Amino acid sequence: MGKRLAALDDFRLLAAALVVAIHTSPLESYTAAGDFWLTRVLARVAVPFFFMVSGHFLAERDWKGVPRLLKKLALLYAVSTVLYLPLTIYSGGVGRWTTWARRIFIEGTFYHLWYFPAAMLGVVIARMLTRLGKPAALSAAALLYLIGLGGDSWFGLAERVPALEALYGQIFNVCQYTRNGLFYAPLFLLLGAEARRMGKRKAAAGAAFALAAMSAEAFGLRGIGAQRHDSMYLFLPLLMAFLFALLLETNAGERRSARRVSMTVYLIHPWTIVLVRGAAKALGWQALLVENSLNHYLLVLAGSFGCAWLLCGWRKPGPRADARAWREVDLGALAHNVKTLRAALPEGCALMGVVKADAYGHGAAQSARAMQRAGVRAFAVACLSEGIALRRAGIWGEILILGYTGAEEVPLLRRWRLTQTVADAEHGRALAAAGKPVRIHLGIDTGMHRLGIPAGDFAAIRALYQCRNLKIRGVFSHLCVVDSLAPADVDYTAGQLARFYETVGWLRAHGYPTGKVHIQASYGVLNLPEQQCDYARVGIALYGVRSTDSPVRYPLELRPVLSLRARVTSVRTIEAGECAGYDRAFRAERPTRVAAVSIGYADGLPRDLSKKGGQVLVRGVRCRLIGRLCMDQALIDVTDLPEARAGDVATLIGCDGGEALRAEEIAEQCGTITNELLSRLGGRLPCRIVAKPV
Ligand SMILES: *Cc1c(COP(=O)(O)O)cnc(C)c1O
Repeated sequence: MGKRLAALDDFRLLAAALVVAIHTSPLESYTAAGDFWLTRVLARVAVPFFFMVSGHFLAERDWKGVPRLLKKLALLYAVSTVLYLPLTIYSGGVGRWTTWARRIFIEGTFYHLWYFPAAMLGVVIARMLTRLGKPAALSAAALLYLIGLGGDSWFGLAERVPALEALYGQIFNVCQYTRNGLFYAPLFLLLGAEARRMGKRKAAAGAAFALAAMSAEAFGLRGIGAQRHDSMYLFLPLLMAFLFALLLETNAGERRSARRVSMTVYLIHPWTIVLVRGAAKALGWQALLVENSLNHYLLVLAGSFGCAWLLCGWRKPGPRADARAWREVDLGALAHNVKTLRAALPEGCALMGVVKADAYGHGAAQSARAMQRAGVRAFAVACLSEGIALRRAGIWGEILILGYTGAEEVPLLRRWRLTQTVADAEHGRALAAAGKPVRIHLGIDTGMHRLGIPAGDFAAIRALYQCRNLKIRGVFSHLCVVDSLAPADVDYTAGQLARFYETVGWLRAHGYPTGKVHIQASYGVLNLPEQQCDYARVGIALYGVRSTDSPVRYPLELRPVLSLRARVTSVRTIEAGECAGYDRAFRAERPTRVAAVSIGYADGLPRDLSKKGGQVLVRGVRCRLIGRLCMDQALIDVTDLPEARAGDVATLIGCDGGEALRAEEIAEQCGTITNELLSRLGGRLPCRIVAKPV
């Protein structure tokens, strides 16, 4: 299990270290040219990189996150402004109110804080530009960048042209630098939004070339004294495009801690500089700690990262995820299943990821995020609280609540932009009577008789369409025997389909917009020919298992996502005739090595598993469960596995060595379906995320 590479998030740490370098000039004591290259050339990738990741993630979510990002930036900016107020006042006060206003809105309230106004304005401008279409947006942003470039490191050349000199005169009347939200940020935000993988070699070669070209450009401009400032170069956007593509090649996950730590380092490092200098002065160690530029840099870097670590609680002490019993969730397999299922759906039919019951025991937030990264834009949950949890986890597409939500919760449905299923006519009326518009999908009962308006009850359906507060965005039904290929069941399903499409046809004929039409769940995909619907609501198949091993008509190559593992905690030998476990349920017929494993029925394992011949893999060998399953522990027979010892990993579901214990096999033994088995694997089991290559 390799550690996940979260290249985009990890690079933020390096970028933060580069920003600290810009403000401390690490090589100054040794080589002026070297320091120029490090801090005025190489380190100039840092801020554009931050803009590019923002653009990348915003575009991934169709720019829906703009208000949220603006709010977050504004908040951080406000807090930082207060944090640096003492230094601002100490270094000359706040000046006239016009200066102060300019600093707040353009230049930043302290020297490194220009980033916030630039990011906020840049995001707004980039978003507006995207409405022009990609080529026009990029061209416009590139033009703005070129104007900025002429006021930055190319200024000495630009000012020789009288018209340009006049232009920059005007610009510098308003702001001190062109490195801001108008000229500088939009291009990088859009480059991030458009970034694509291009292959490792091409990206690396391109980045190397662009860095060499930018270095030559920088030294050339410095040589002729053209630089008014040194943030912008002609080759910088090219370098950033290749560098970002290179990072995308190795990006296989996210590391939120790196985001928090890098932002914190960015925010606090000027304070660290002040404190390091103060301490050095107090100790009389200025020559060593301040005048030596490299020591100074390393000290500021260590101080900033150390504080950030503490502030972000990076090392919250807690038990290791694999200490006792744990779920292992393979997000690579999940992405593979998303791809396979989408390929099986007809053109125009999207995958709705069903993540109810904590994504069938797989962890709803992480599973939904992985699906979202794989392109899934619609999700289904069982209830309101599950929907809210998904929104909090950063899921932004459609979220449909499949179960009942009382009309008193309409404000929460609206606040979290959730779509509610209408369970029956009365429920629909109650939702409408709550007095505010609410997004709904009409459930149609075609024969399951659980939820929905009875198919063919056109009067009830028409009445719901006449409720102004019901924003009907979809119509769906659920099949109850589509997992069976028995002729009578196949007939029943055909009847359900016919009733559903008849209702949909009636709606269309009467000019009622249906919104999204959907009827298939996992077995609807595995057993039915293509359905011309807008969604397939897939649950169990996404997790790479079927409910049972019974045959299906259109099998797909799906990979199990979840493994269940625990530790062997103790091994002992008992004599023939001795018993083990509660009720003395196991009686040894020979001298038997008994191992205890740290997992039990309170973790969601069926208590019957040991009675029904359940097995566990240790060192790739199947071992029998014996005695009664306890609440938190299980006993296994390792007589034939003399190497077994405490600390070994025991696999209850999943692969170990060449052997596999499949969820279908265990569900069958216990007389249930995998859906129940997996969804019961409960909250006490921590999740270890792995992302084996897709
Ligand atoms: C649970 C559920 C699904 C998903 O079912 P799977 O068989 O797991 O794919 C789809 N639709 C509804 C209404 C459900 O309740």
